[in-house]
Amino acid sequence: MSKELIENGKVVQLAFSLKNAAGELLDSSDSSDPFVYLHGSSQIVPGLETGLEGLKVGDKKQVVVPPASGYGEIDNELKLTVKRTQFPANVVPEAGMQFESRSPEGHGLVFTVDSIDGEDIKIDGNHPLAGQTLTFSVEVLAIRDATEEEKTHGHAHGAHGHGHSH
Ligand code: ZN
Repeated sequence: MSKELIENGKVVQLAFSLKNAAGELLDSSDSSDPFVYLHGSSQIVPGLETGLEGLKVGDKKQVVVPPASGYGEIDNELKLTVKRTQFPANVVPEAGMQFESRSPEGHGLVFTVDSIDGEDIKIDGNHPLAGQTLTFSVEVLAIRDATEEEKTHGHAHGAHGHGHSH
């Protein structure tokens, strides 16, 4: 077992569960399908990254992440009402549907359809976890040095990491 600590430039494998303030399980990953990320590259929310700093393999920790260091506070300006005609003709909007839109600066933003009232469609561009205090229960499964390629890309590669060909 390695004596390495989680620090910038390490690729980390985690088992974790994620619960909201009501205690509902939102996401989880166990040792058969661990979550893999590159520490220090903002692949995970800042509050979790800070909470994992300095842990070693075998460590278990509960990290509570408030919105400010998680997915942000809810921005009411991202809650919009649009007309059905603003959707492509071949799309039937339904509550819960997600779609990507581009700001004038070209940033991609994912909107979720909140509700539909006749021709008016309420959409929300906030991250689904915005405004929530999140509790991550993590166990550190493995730590290794990132490859130069991973450092260049800013994310982890490999069996359970992010797979692609660039
Ligand atoms: Zn890559």
